[in-house]
Amino acid sequence: MEDQKFDIAVIGGGPAGLSAALTGRVRNKQIALFEHMNHSEKLQKAHIIDNYLGMPKITGPGMMQQFVAHCMAHQPTLIKEKVVTVFPGEDMFTLLTPVNTYEARTVILTTGVVSTTLFKGEKAFLGRGVSYCATCDGMFYREKDVAVISYTSEGEQEAEYLGEICRNVFYFPQYKPQPTAMRSGVSIITARPCSIEGDTQVEKLIVDQGEYKVNGIFIMRQSDPVENILPGLELEGEVIKVNRDMSTNIPGVYAAGDCTGKPWQIAKATGEGLVAVLSAINYLDKKAK
Ligand SMILES: Cc1cc2nc3c(=O)[nH]c(=O)nc-3n(C[C@H](O)[C@H](O)[C@H](O)COP(=O)(O)OP(=O)(O)OC[C@H]3O[C@@H](n4cnc5c(N)ncnc54)[C@H](O)[C@@H]3O)c2cc1C
Repeated sequence: MEDQKFDIAVIGGGPAGLSAALTGRVRNKQIALFEHMNHSEKLQKAHIIDNYLGMPKITGPGMMQQFVAHCMAHQPTLIKEKVVTVFPGEDMFTLLTPVNTYEARTVILTTGVVSTTLFKGEKAFLGRGVSYCATCDGMFYREKDVAVISYTSEGEQEAEYLGEICRNVFYFPQYKPQPTAMRSGVSIITARPCSIEGDTQVEKLIVDQGEYKVNGIFIMRQSDPVENILPGLELEGEVIKVNRDMSTNIPGVYAAGDCTGKPWQIAKATGEGLVAVLSAINYLDKKAK
């Protein structure tokens, strides 16, 4: 599938993204809903939720099942890929995933929050040895040594791919259960990464039990820092700065849910998803005149 064009690209299939995609389809727009993992793995872990109106004492998985079924009944195009970068263009945004390119007239960011703090040095070395996408950047490290730090099992495929082209791959799984074996060239390391060091380029990863000399470090989280997906996006602290209509500083880009800040609650996420998509539709309508 290549070069697909949509009215609205919704990045993230948690409560905020599903809500935006649902109303977008009800309003007859072409919606691409990007979700690279299980819909809100975070919420799927919730034992009991008892503060969402109309769904008393529901489990996290039970709630997500209902949200997903309701949204998918309206047939948005669900794309099980991770959006790595969004490039604003004249009339269209171009969205890159590790395997495809898509185009959309507007974008709604519903990526949730980055659940781990960034490593010391991570921001400074982004693009100078730090990457969030092995498929995109792996070839720069052919015959070199790299580390992969992963908070999801998705990182195993990325590390295996790097194992085919790099000299040594040190895989640091930060989740349970940890893999016990991987392809040759990939070493599983049980250690906690602490910081990234180097001069102009990454040179080493410092962990709690020593250090690893590497040329590149790939970091896999469920959600990446959002400013890396869309450079130039204005933040307020760690979250996306939005107006009451959920617009951001970039025309045609909206945001909703946890990625816009507290309270980190489902009702806020679904409500903001609705406001964001209505604002995006308003923007499209105005442009069409
Ligand atoms: C254990 C637990 C219990 C909770 N209990 C409650 C509760 O009782 N009541 C309540 O109101 N709230 C509760 N919450 C909070 C609630 O889960 C969040 O507020 C809500 O899930 C936010 O929804 P969201 O759509 O903004 O983000 P998320 O649910 O985090 O969804 C974001 C989605 O985007 C996807 N994604 C991220 N980046 C990309 C990308 N680049 N490309 C493609 N997909 C991407 C992720 O895989 C994820 O599925 C709880 C949270 C936890 C962890």
